Amino acid sequence: MPVDATLPYDDQNIFARILRGEIPARKVYEDEFALAFHDIAPWSPTHILVIPKGPYVSWDDFSARASDAEIAGFVRAVGHVARDAGLVGPGYRLLANAGPHSHQEVPHLHVHILAGRPLGPMLI
Ligand code: ADP
Repeated sequence: MPVDATLPYDDQNIFARILRGEIPARKVYEDEFALAFHDIAPWSPTHILVIPKGPYVSWDDFSARASDAEIAGFVRAVGHVARDAGLVGPGYRLLANAGPHSHQEVPHLHVHILAGRPLGPMLI
């Protein structure tokens, strides 16, 4: 069921539980601001999710409430993960769903990094 990204943050969501170490994830990167791990049901040969460590439902919530340091740290982490995975040459796609029309399922902001094959035009 897609989430309403305007709702208050639910600290029982699955990515909050991954951040707290309550459930496992195949981590690829972690720093003060962000955690990155492989998507459990990949859409492409490389499918990594990057999430901020703070309690933000969506891109909208994050861009409105996060500090400049959190925003800068998160954006730099996404770039670092893509570079570290060797994706800069072949290229990659970033995607962040926000709210019901986007079909966001997990109510903790996450950026999908999709790569590993030609992805074709953006789906709508
Ligand atoms: P949608 O699933 O409709 O694309 P989202 O943008 O909210 O909605 O994406 C949630 C992503 O989280 C999905 O790609 C899903 O496979 C992934 N996912 C869900 N649970 C886990 C988990 N425990 N570990 C890693 N990835 C997960």
